[in-house]
Amino acid sequence: MCSLSSDLRRLHCRLFLLFLLLLLWLSSTAQAQQEAPTHLLLIGIDGLRWDIIDRHPAPTLRRLASQGVRAQGVVPVMPSKTFPNFYAIATGLYPDRNGVLDNASYDATLDMTFRMSLQDDARWFQGEPIWVTAERQGLRAATMFWVGSGAEIGGLRPTYWHPFDGSVPNEKRVEQVLEWFALDESQRPHFLSVYFEAIDSASHSFGVNSPEERAAVLAVDTALGDLLNRLEAQGVLSSTNVIVVGDHGMTDLSPERIIYLDDFVDFSDLYSPQLSGERQGNAVFAAFHGESDDVERVYRALALAHPHMSVYRKSGFPEWFHQTHPQRAPDLIIVPDNGWMLSKRGIPYNGPRASHGFSPHERDMHAGFIASGPAFQSGEVVEPFAIVDIYNVMARILGLTPASNDGNPELIQHLLQK
Ligand code: AMP
Ligand code: ZN
Ligand code: ZN
Repeated sequence: MCSLSSDLRRLHCRLFLLFLLLLLWLSSTAQAQQEAPTHLLLIGIDGLRWDIIDRHPAPTLRRLASQGVRAQGVVPVMPSKTFPNFYAIATGLYPDRNGVLDNASYDATLDMTFRMSLQDDARWFQGEPIWVTAERQGLRAATMFWVGSGAEIGGLRPTYWHPFDGSVPNEKRVEQVLEWFALDESQRPHFLSVYFEAIDSASHSFGVNSPEERAAVLAVDTALGDLLNRLEAQGVLSSTNVIVVGDHGMTDLSPERIIYLDDFVDFSDLYSPQLSGERQGNAVFAAFHGESDDVERVYRALALAHPHMSVYRKSGFPEWFHQTHPQRAPDLIIVPDNGWMLSKRGIPYNGPRASHGFSPHERDMHAGFIASGPAFQSGEVVEPFAIVDIYNVMARILGLTPASNDGNPELIQHLLQK
């Protein structure tokens, strides 16, 4: 049509081409804006049970939930302890694929027990945590503590990180995050994490629903309120996606609910990271390693010994244990019922008043999840999902190709804007 000769037609033709160019330009800038990585702030709250913000004053977390998405619960990995769960959030992998089977776990090939103090030993942490996915694909990551972030995993650490130090006050952690957000655009991290353990500590020491737990919830909520207000003042909150997640729930313990395993069998020929040693007892999850004859003897003696515990040999681990790691799988696992402890005679029980580590099927063990920001749905409450599902959501928000993981990618549809 552009070969028509009249002036009017020529003018139309030019206008039409201009219009096409404008359309092209608009669509390419829109695409560029969509592809520009946003900021993701991952806030880990140790012991944030799914219902804790309904039981205690938590104005910031409640506001965040009403603006964004809240889950009715997050199902932790087995055991519902800190290290396996924070590392499952980071990697989207179950313990049998990421190597973190418990807060303390024995590796038969290395003949060593990993404990929480070995937080920077990369041999412990397998799989690819989200900060490594980010750094690999050209984004910067910053961690104000996260399980595994002190180790050089696959040759990478976050651009900015600190070795874990529980004595750093909440306010200092917040200050560090704000400083990272204030960096020049070219230096500013896209993925940031911050961790708070005050609620877990208070619940352990004083029990579920104690005044001390209430005070800790308020203290962490106040620190978060301060962080979000100041991010808003810095002008970065509106482009930041915030995920708040707990690692597990919590339940009360009692001296009336202790199972003394040595009443039934001498298990000293087996090694248990939780129960071997003169001073170890009062465990809420126990793994054992040993020769098959000894394992069989202990299994037979304990299998039906007590109505409040379940005993499993490796060959009979339910799939949802996800404990069958090639070098670290225990030969035997004992799972007490919710609120019960496993111990040995002669070990005193002086607390904790409450704990976690029980089956992920126990509602008390479910963690909280709240997320808000431009990528998230608004005012939604979603059904419980698995803790390993979060990794895919983080990768999607950051525009990253996720590493192989165990998460169900459908969670992306439930949480994020269409
Ligand atoms: P739990 O025994 O499962 O309740 O573990 C909670 C404790 O884990 C916290 O009180 C912290 O001292 C510790 N912790 C949390 N994150 C880390 C980390 N990145 N490195 C070492 N220890 C940690
Ligand atoms: Zn924890
Ligand atoms: Zn704890």
